[in-house]
Amino acid sequence: MNLLKTLIKNKVSNRTILKLKYMIGKTGLPKTLRIDITAFCNAKCPFCPRVAMPAERSTGRMSIENFTSIIEEAKNFGIKTLKLYITSEPLLHPDFAKFVEVAVKNEINVQISTNLSVLQHRLNDLRKVSKLQLSIEGWDKESYEKYRFPLKFERAKNNFEFLTNDPLLKKIHKEIHLPVTKITNLEKFFTLWGNVDAIRIDFMQPYNYFDKFENKFISNYPIKLQNEIYELHETENKTCYDPFDEIVVGYDGKIHLCCLDFHAELPLGNISDGFKKVLNNYKRKSIQSEFLTGKVDTCGSCSQFMQASQDQKNKVKISIDEAWKKIKPNAKIIFYENTWESNG
Ligand code: SF4
Repeated sequence: MNLLKTLIKNKVSNRTILKLKYMIGKTGLPKTLRIDITAFCNAKCPFCPRVAMPAERSTGRMSIENFTSIIEEAKNFGIKTLKLYITSEPLLHPDFAKFVEVAVKNEINVQISTNLSVLQHRLNDLRKVSKLQLSIEGWDKESYEKYRFPLKFERAKNNFEFLTNDPLLKKIHKEIHLPVTKITNLEKFFTLWGNVDAIRIDFMQPYNYFDKFENKFISNYPIKLQNEIYELHETENKTCYDPFDEIVVGYDGKIHLCCLDFHAELPLGNISDGFKKVLNNYKRKSIQSEFLTGKVDTCGSCSQFMQASQDQKNKVKISIDEAWKKIKPNAKIIFYENTWESNG
């Protein structure tokens, strides 16, 4: 482990570190499971990969019976963390609380991402969740309702106040993932939403989709936001741990490659085949091999490899620092390592 830390410190390439971790078994045996219990979302965010998602994958729900059998196998497999979100809004499943109950009974901690749009009494269903990611990008009514169309600012704000003040709900670790654009007003954002444990900041990215003719992921700038998203360039440093460290299951049991694979069109199998078969799936193995050899064909144009220039990063960091010093929110600011440390 010390050797690994030294290598990281000495900036040995990310691929070399991935290969070493793979060789010594530190990656490749997933500890995290992601599941979409519903395929539905009530928002049409202009930057979300749902804009390019095939319509047939946008409706449908998982049954509690299928979920229970996945969770029981996950427990035996040593999975400790369940993320109940991939492409959708999990609180829209009417049995959400029962799903959480099943996972907690099997000693698996549950994390969710929510857009805060449900009626307030439904927030009580979150009591047994261990970590909440709140999806908010806007700093006032107009910007909130543009990014989270057609959700309403007032409901999100009221739900936020309830979550951060209710004696039981306020204990849950809460984070906001903020993808900044050229027009994000950080001072207003920290004033409105700063009362959480952490705000994790990166740049708003183009959305990802799988092009089945090209047989690879492609990323596209959303037309409605193209004037405000920072210009990003493709990094040469292409390493991703998702196909090694997570099992990602759609509402119908189909395996997704990762949380950015909204189409689920790759032949990665079905969770009903069992965890071992899913992990040994030939396509999963071939994508892992692409990352290990550095010949990243399938994922080479993924949006997560789009980076801002060093100059842009420095300027945005200064603005964040100035806004933080002025507003002093409770939230710790976290910079995504992938976004801020790599120079591409
Ligand atoms: S590179 Fe992108 S598409 Fe490929 S596994 Fe990672 S997040 Fe998913």
